[in-house]
Amino acid sequence: MTRAFTYVALPMRVVFGAGVVSTLPEEVAAVGLTRVLVLCSPEQEGTGRRIAAALGNRAVDVLAEARMHVPVEVAERAGDAARELRADGGVAVGGGSAIGLGKAVALQHGLPVVAVPTTYAGSEMTPVWGLTEGGTKRTGRDSRVLPVSVLYDPELTVTLPAGLSATSGVNALAHAVEGLYAPDASPIVSLMAEEGVRAMAAALPAVVADGDDLDARAEAQYGAWLCGAVLGATTMSLHHKLCHVLGGALDLPHAQTHTVVLPHALAHNAPAVPRAVAALARALGGLDDPARQLWDLAGRLGAPRSLRELGMAEHDIPRVADLVVADPYANPRPVTRDGIAALLRRAWTGEPPAALSP
Ligand code: NAD
Repeated sequence: MTRAFTYVALPMRVVFGAGVVSTLPEEVAAVGLTRVLVLCSPEQEGTGRRIAAALGNRAVDVLAEARMHVPVEVAERAGDAARELRADGGVAVGGGSAIGLGKAVALQHGLPVVAVPTTYAGSEMTPVWGLTEGGTKRTGRDSRVLPVSVLYDPELTVTLPAGLSATSGVNALAHAVEGLYAPDASPIVSLMAEEGVRAMAAALPAVVADGDDLDARAEAQYGAWLCGAVLGATTMSLHHKLCHVLGGALDLPHAQTHTVVLPHALAHNAPAVPRAVAALARALGGLDDPARQLWDLAGRLGAPRSLRELGMAEHDIPRVADLVVADPYANPRPVTRDGIAALLRRAWTGEPPAALSP
């Protein structure tokens, strides 16, 4: 079969390994930063302050205000603080919320960001930014928001609770799944996606069984890196569209929503993407129904499997279906309002995934 593709490598520096956070001062210096603002969420202020202390006079302050989906007022406060303190860069430590805040400062003020991820969401590997104003989230791609350096230290993830470890790991899986059938998929990215799924799916049960298992944490973070890099290189499809609408319109929690929706979105697309299904089957242990395997995995991890348990009301299904079809993302299988409503109904009740009519 003839292939045709375009592959653009993103300029990323990645430092990986237990304990590498201790090299952050040298990393910050190596990328030429002398006055960084440390960004984190309120819950991780202690981690942020320890990192700032280790950076010594290279850290100008800690702003512990990161929140989900980057509210524009928080981004403005971070930008104002960076300007007043004459910061020349940011260090974002935390999950996608803290890294998203770093990206907002990079976008609006041109300050480079060093990322120290502590979940498996994968934002640190992408040039995708988001900003939320008046209940509406704008997103875009801009190479300026891609972190100049990423330090993956599994020791920083041992405090991530089992529930969030599981759902954030499935969030990463979703990036790889959609990367395998993206319109701009390419061979090297597909290899990363398959290996990312293999590593993450193998690691998560061990992480959930024992959060202090550093080998399992490292394997999950390795998977998160690969899956995040896949998201950074490809265009999102139906699964991410569904999650963006459910998060934006109903304020459902990000990682948990990904976990519930992924098997259903994959079951919908599977008939149109046999190569992606074969790659996922290999990555998940050789069985031939990867959508069902992802649903079973969520069950084994004790993760949510229904939108109902995330607080969605049944009467919201038609509204969400309307929003999804009003402005759809590219998708390998047709998307219709009735098809999406049927998919959402299964996801809402928590039934196993099924390939329904489009
Ligand atoms: P999060 O960053 O919101 O973190 C969730 C909670 O877990 C926070 O309270 C945080 O402080 C806490 N936490 C994080 N790491 C911890 C640790 N190691 N120990 C203890 N507590 C910890 O959650 P997330 O799922 O990582 O990120 C979600 C956000 O990221 C969403 O806004 C989503 O849109 C965005 N995102 C963006 C991209 C992108 O490419 N732009 C990719 C994925 C996710």
